[in-house]
Amino acid sequence: MKIAVVPGDGIGREVVPVAESVLRHLHPDWDYYPVEVGFGRWERCGAAIGSGEMDALREADAILFGAVTTPPDPDYRSVLLQIRKDLDLYANVRPVRGPGFSVTIVRENTEGLYSGIEWALPGSACTLRVVTDGGSRRIARYAAALAENGLMTIGTKANVIKSDVLFRRCAIEEAESAGVRWEEKYIDALCLDLLMHPSRYNVVVTTNIFGDIISDAAAYLVGGLGLLPSANVGDSHAFFEPVHGSAPDIAGRGIANPVAAIRSAAMLLAHVGHADEAAAVDAAVDAACAAGVRTPDLGGAASTVQVGEAVLSRMR
Ligand code: ATP
Ligand code: MG
Repeated sequence: MKIAVVPGDGIGREVVPVAESVLRHLHPDWDYYPVEVGFGRWERCGAAIGSGEMDALREADAILFGAVTTPPDPDYRSVLLQIRKDLDLYANVRPVRGPGFSVTIVRENTEGLYSGIEWALPGSACTLRVVTDGGSRRIARYAAALAENGLMTIGTKANVIKSDVLFRRCAIEEAESAGVRWEEKYIDALCLDLLMHPSRYNVVVTTNIFGDIISDAAAYLVGGLGLLPSANVGDSHAFFEPVHGSAPDIAGRGIANPVAAIRSAAMLLAHVGHADEAAAVDAAVDAACAAGVRTPDLGGAASTVQVGEAVLSRMR
């Protein structure tokens, strides 16, 4: 198995080595290779990612990613957007788990309001929200597969927006043909209900920007950014990263919470066929947290490395 490891910038450089050590503990024989992407590279050679790095990512069976800082340059093009587009990572998957609930938010990652078709005129600006039949069906199929034994909630604004009428119809048809139980909710009402009654939900599927918003809102359920993992998945490539960014304010102090990165590594394991190991990693993280080994963002005094050690010792 070839694993590209991209620490990136800021706390990415602190939490990714911890997540990598968890993978190495389980699979010392896999091929782990570092890829330099981000602000550091941009400072060195004027580009946050080059074609060599893109090729290295393309060759990997899975990518473990930290975070990148956005350079202060108006012409800068987001590395993450470029990677998502070039590798066609159309599904953004964010599990949010806590006592009594387990919700996975599946966000369409390639179209909608982020299609990039937009212009500004004096006094007005326009951004096109492009939703296609193919794009909607593939994300709905992905979500339906995750919702196999549960409920698939389709979040839209189909009462107002025509592009969501299309998304809704495609999602319902795919849920029906997969034999999955589904419901639909308007995204605004869904945001509130998800926070009030998370145990009602299993898989939520929605369009690009709605998914962005509802998944950050859902972070409220687990108490913060340092805990949430995510995956960006396509038919040929898969990319795993913590939901948080590079957090320059706490970088270099050894206190970043590595749990989001470790859980991202667990998602990687599940993706490449080791669901049992993924569950064991998540259980070890839960046990370490329950024993009070926590970083300062969770009110503890442990360092990044100490949390990593506590998780590893519970896996041995
Ligand atoms: P970026 O521009 O890279 O997104 P940011 O300043 O927006 O950086 P985020 O990583 O998005 O920072 O997080 C916002 C805040 O949440 C940070 O300032 C940090 O204090 C806190 N935070 C985020 N991730 C973690 C973590 N893993 N451990 C501890 N605190 C964190
Ligand atoms: Mg941020």
